[in-house]
Amino acid sequence: MKEKICAVCQEGRLEEADNIASEIEGYIFVEKGWRCSKCGEEFIKENEAQRTIEIARKLGIWPKPLKLHRSISKSGRGLVLRIPSDLEDDLNLKPGQRVSISRVGHKIIVETEGK
Ligand SMILES: [Zn+2]
Repeated sequence: MKEKICAVCQEGRLEEADNIASEIEGYIFVEKGWRCSKCGEEFIKENEAQRTIEIARKLGIWPKPLKLHRSISKSGRGLVLRIPSDLEDDLNLKPGQRVSISRVGHKIIVETEGK
């Protein structure tokens, strides 16, 4: 059998792993896949990843498949990001709603507070 080479570092060998842990909203999912012997990058098997997504959807912790695209606009001295109306309805957002904003890598996560 041909050895798989890591697509990330192009050097390490991929070794079977059955203990790849993903954390989604505080839930831990353990999946099977491969782990690079050099850089440690983990690759989850497609059917395992699909199973995790299905479970996460049932738990209501997986985001809707739809990705919304918006542009940031300028207002006064700050930048403004409009909330899409379907999100406004889904989350029952009202003006004055407090949110916390955190950064994870290149992502900006906005969480509603209270309730
Ligand atoms: Zn690697």
